[in-house]
Amino acid sequence: MEKVIITAAITGSRMQRDIAPHIPITPEEIAQSAIESWEAGAAVVHIHVRDPETLMGSQDINLFRRVVEPLRAKTDVVICLTTSGVPGLNLPTEERLAPLVLKPEMASFDAGSINLGGKPFINTNEFLDEAARIMKDAGVKPEIEAFDLGMIITTLRMRDEGKLDDPLHFQFVLGTPAGSPATPKSLLHFYDHIPRNATWSTIGIGRRQFDMAMMALIMGGHIRVGMEDNIHLSQGVLARTNAELVEKAVAMCRAYGREVATPDEARAILGLRKQL
Ligand code: ZN
Repeated sequence: MEKVIITAAITGSRMQRDIAPHIPITPEEIAQSAIESWEAGAAVVHIHVRDPETLMGSQDINLFRRVVEPLRAKTDVVICLTTSGVPGLNLPTEERLAPLVLKPEMASFDAGSINLGGKPFINTNEFLDEAARIMKDAGVKPEIEAFDLGMIITTLRMRDEGKLDDPLHFQFVLGTPAGSPATPKSLLHFYDHIPRNATWSTIGIGRRQFDMAMMALIMGGHIRVGMEDNIHLSQGVLARTNAELVEKAVAMCRAYGREVATPDEARAILGLRKQL
């Protein structure tokens, strides 16, 4: 079976230290945690940055630069930058897409709207068209985040319209309060609706992180772990670092018998254009 791409989602945009005492917040902490995750076996790092005042997600390009530069200097990891801003604040389109100026190899693409954190996270067709256009022009591969089946249907429509290119790469986001649940049935249902030449990975929110990772291992998919999605190493035990979550994923892959992809192997699997 194909090697497994492990993506580490380092911090997200919302989780604060009262709930997640070890979550990286400053650009330096985020960069360091991403480097440690790469050392532990992550081929891809999914990056948000935090506003130094509010400690919530920010799309400030200078903050992103302070993470991207050390990663490029010290690692060969595939960098995936978020375009979500803070779900629910619904920042202007230019602000959300600003990090693409840094030419990451990948960027998140939330293929529809959903309630997140009690507020609507809005991704209109106009926003998606603009995001797809800029990513295509810049050679940035979309990490297509699908929280429900409608987002997969939207993606396929955009592919048919020539706005997104095959082979698509999906990130199934399972277990958010208003999205599809993190169950084997949901995962199979999503899988049934994507093209056979697409690649896919799973996020299980919270305690479902490693359940969904195990399913993906069995089904030939890829996996995402990290404190954006889950802060526990096991029930009641907080992960002290993102690298610990990556190490657990690596151990699962080895125990199951699938090898872990290096960043360059991930590039080949995903068909990325290296942009350093
Ligand atoms: Zn994210």
